[in-house]
Amino acid sequence: MTEILILGELDGNELHSSAGELIAAGRKLADELGMKVSAAIIGEAPIEIANEAISIGADQVYTVSHELIAQGVSDTYVAALEFICNKVNPAVVLTAKTPIGRSAGPRLAYRLGTGVAQDCINLEGDAGTGKMTVTRPVYGGNAMAKFTFANNETQVAVLRIKAFEPLPTDADRSGLITHIDLEMNENHVKSKLVETVKEQSEGVKLEDAEVIIGGGRGLGGPEPFSQLEELAKLFDSGAVGASRAVCDAGWLDHSYQIGLTGKTVTPNLYITFGISGASQHMAGCSASKNIVAINKDGEANIFKEASFGVIGDWEKVLPSFTATVQELLGT
Ligand code: FAD
Repeated sequence: MTEILILGELDGNELHSSAGELIAAGRKLADELGMKVSAAIIGEAPIEIANEAISIGADQVYTVSHELIAQGVSDTYVAALEFICNKVNPAVVLTAKTPIGRSAGPRLAYRLGTGVAQDCINLEGDAGTGKMTVTRPVYGGNAMAKFTFANNETQVAVLRIKAFEPLPTDADRSGLITHIDLEMNENHVKSKLVETVKEQSEGVKLEDAEVIIGGGRGLGGPEPFSQLEELAKLFDSGAVGASRAVCDAGWLDHSYQIGLTGKTVTPNLYITFGISGASQHMAGCSASKNIVAINKDGEANIFKEASFGVIGDWEKVLPSFTATVQELLGT
């Protein structure tokens, strides 16, 4: 057990953005444990992708292709990862909290007869025991808990998206690329991808935005969201998000929802209008670098998490807020 294996997902013909985060997390852990970082790139991938994984911190890349591997079908990733694990016996396997990774991690752990830690936001390695300690939010994000694995088998962890910063590219890094001939048959594939529906979205994706303007039930209806859009557009990387109350009311689609049952976001700046800051909402945004809250209730929970706040009516604050941002940004 001398390696940390990460699942390097593909996004079409490119390395999925989560791969860089996993390699960075794996790199830190590998350095602490005195191990190496391997990336499993599963599916037809050009050699440049393997080189890219090395340039951002992997020591070794396993490329695995098979005609039965289909992007989007987690069965095939689980089968391929299990195959690699049986060959290389990694100390740790890391997957990302993507639709594929969040399903492949636990299923792989079950097949390896080991445990899995979900939604991890930090990893620490203990060179003495070879074990990792994971940190993950519990009780809807109200507390952080640290866990270690009880057995000595492979340790599987699913990492929260955006909790780890990818390493800068270093084109001079070198590593080993090994192709693995996968033994796989139709029995490994129990589900079938029927259709892929692309989410219609304009501008910056909520998960990638550096500035998010969030709106809650306090806005009173769907109309004010056009004003939030206007403010978001002033920033290079701005997007609008919402509370579940807003999405449940049909004011915005659920793809805008931030929180426990919505998206997890980590922008540099999260500005909220008329959001109370319920724990289920904060579970998806408490890792934002700065939270600014505008709420007419000074006792609202959001103020406990906000770095800056305005106690007031959004209808009065938003126009002057937008005008000031316009002035400061010179737009
Ligand atoms: P409210 O709680 O109604 O708050 C509205 C706020 O607007 C109030 O604080 C009020 O003071 C303020 N306000 C009113 N008028 C004005 C005004 N004119 N100017 C300024 N402020 C004003 N919620 C999520 O958001 N995301 C989730 O993923 C999520 N998952 C959940 C999962 C479970 C299992 C459960 C049980 C709940 C979940 N919820 C989630 C719901 C959550 O508990 C809250 O109900 C929800 O976040 C409340 O949304 P809100 O803050 O917009 O509305």
